[in-house]
Amino acid sequence: MFITTHAALGAIVAEWVPDQPLLAFGLGLLSHFLSDIIPHGDSQLYKGYVAGSKVKRAIAYVTIDGVISLVFVLFLFNTRLIENRAAISMGILGGVLPDLLVGLYEVTKTKWLIPLHRVHFFFHNMVTHRHGDLSFPSGFAMQMVFLSALLSRLA
Ligand SMILES: [Zn+2]
Repeated sequence: MFITTHAALGAIVAEWVPDQPLLAFGLGLLSHFLSDIIPHGDSQLYKGYVAGSKVKRAIAYVTIDGVISLVFVLFLFNTRLIENRAAISMGILGGVLPDLLVGLYEVTKTKWLIPLHRVHFFFHNMVTHRHGDLSFPSGFAMQMVFLSALLSRLA
């Protein structure tokens, strides 16, 4: 999913435990793996990245997504959520960390990241391996709807 979507979800689950940043971090992590189960249209892009045919596109996609997430977090911290800053920050961190580590693994192939990479794609591919993924445009549209619903809860 978009990093932005994971960040928004991380913020939402953190709101459940406003006084417990560590728990918010754990819930953020969990929200990442569980939401990745929903087919969201990025399987072909990832395969293209691994195969070397869509490297530039994948990098552009992640860069744009990363900057949008940053703007999103700035937006959040100008809303009422400023009151539970520690928990919200940790929830967002937990929400986005798996993709950061997967990205780090893709670039470095560091051995200690292999288990996390496997766990991540176990969830990510749970449904898409059996039933196929959405097309990129459908996945994009679905996530925009999902993200607006999340935003309307946060704003
Ligand atoms: Zn992910």
